[in-house]
Parts: sequence; C-alpha cells; structure tokens
Amino acid sequence: MQTTAEYSCAFCGESSTTFIDVSGGLSQRYIEDCQVCCRPNILYVLIDEDTLEVEIQTDYEE
Ligand SMILES: [Zn+2]
Repeated sequence: MQTTAEYSCAFCGESSTTFIDVSGGLSQRYIEDCQVCCRPNILYVLIDEDTLEVEIQTDYEE
C-alpha cells in the first residue's frame, strides 16, 4: 500500500510530495532529491499505525 505526503525541503524550504510505501514500516528513513532544487534530503518518515497519518522530518544529506 502506498500513500503520499508532503515535506519541506531542508535546503530551499519548498514543499515536495513523496510516495511512501506503508508496508516498508512505520518508521522509515530514506534519501530523496528535492523536486525543486534537486538537492538530497534525508527524510525521516513516521506513520501513525491507526490513522496512517504521515509525519516527515527532513535533514541535510552530507
Ligand atoms: Zn529544495
């Protein structure tokens, strides 16, 4: 099952939409390039088990 969520780029602050594979776990971490500035963000994804609400925190990829 897949869902989408928005995050703010750690570099430029613009919102991007990402696809999240819920079957990958309730806590995920992966790297995605910003759709605006193309720089790599580390996405820390937390999925609520009951509501499947998604929370994303971003960090700079070194
Ligand atoms: Zn960006």
